[in-house]
Amino acid sequence: MRATVMFGAGDVRIENVADARIIEATDAVVIVSRACICGSDLWPYKTMEQSDTGRRMGHEAIGVVAAVGANVRTIETGDVVIMPFAYSDGSCVFCHDGLLTSSIHGGFFGTGVMDGAQAEALRVPLADGTLFALPVGKDDALMPSLLTLSDVMGTGHHAAVAAKVAPGKTAAVVGDGAVGLCGVIAARRLDAGRIIILGRHPDRIALAKEFGATDVVSQRGDEAVERVRELTGGFGAHSVLECVGLEGSMNTAIAIARPGGAVGRVGVPQDETMPASRPAFYNNVTVSGGPAPVRAYIEELLPDIVEGRIEPGRVFDRVVPLDKVPDGYRAMNERETIKVMVKN
Ligand SMILES: [Zn+2]
Repeated sequence: MRATVMFGAGDVRIENVADARIIEATDAVVIVSRACICGSDLWPYKTMEQSDTGRRMGHEAIGVVAAVGANVRTIETGDVVIMPFAYSDGSCVFCHDGLLTSSIHGGFFGTGVMDGAQAEALRVPLADGTLFALPVGKDDALMPSLLTLSDVMGTGHHAAVAAKVAPGKTAAVVGDGAVGLCGVIAARRLDAGRIIILGRHPDRIALAKEFGATDVVSQRGDEAVERVRELTGGFGAHSVLECVGLEGSMNTAIAIARPGGAVGRVGVPQDETMPASRPAFYNNVTVSGGPAPVRAYIEELLPDIVEGRIEPGRVFDRVVPLDKVPDGYRAMNERETIKVMVKN
């Protein structure tokens, strides 16, 4: 079968690899019908050291179950399933707490340890705890939005939850990528009174407004901080969704949180240490967040998609076949597109 392999920065290839197959009795094999290129895939795309073996890429997918191991109970061959970016046993103490990304037997797809979803098929460990069977066919018109439940919509929602978005309060979203845009949807869903998006790309800002953003701040750094303060009576936002992961974006996020406010961070941090420790301390700003337990959020978010209240699939502005995935990386890296869908 064919799969996406990254061999180094800027070096993504479609390779012939061994067919996905059942190894453990709790595995399933999923034929991928749609996958994505993620903003987080761009970090290795920019920085990965050249490797002879490469890294299988992709952690977001919808597909059809082709085979299940002998101990799989709830997932059946033929099910149309969402594959969240993390696998989880669904039965440990952290899964019961809803923190599936900390599952004792869990891990992440497309990391080098586990195979990736930008492929024709993949092996999914712990199928019962990981996969979510959908009540629709694989060509349903809602597929783009359903696909976002494998990562970006769940991640945007997690940012909003971690930032304690509440009815009538002000939320600010740092980052206008797919996760930031889904963060706008999530803040709106949780009835924020005002939603400020920090971003500069006209197409993304237009979509953010359609998703519910009420104010746009296109400045950067100190000027952005000043502008948000102006918009919020000098105090800052109650809730800040940090959807980038860079030092500058985290500094901005903490600087625009009002005293006693909260920052929910879901951008994968690119630094070992957390910036803006002092302002966070002196303003009693809660800093929370991490990898989103998106599997746990599917049940809550799914009805809003099925019943048409939210349309996060609009973040996909380019669709490519598997063969064109390398060009999809290039396009996303050059900000030619917001998010690329891979359709098999
Ligand atoms: Zn992702």
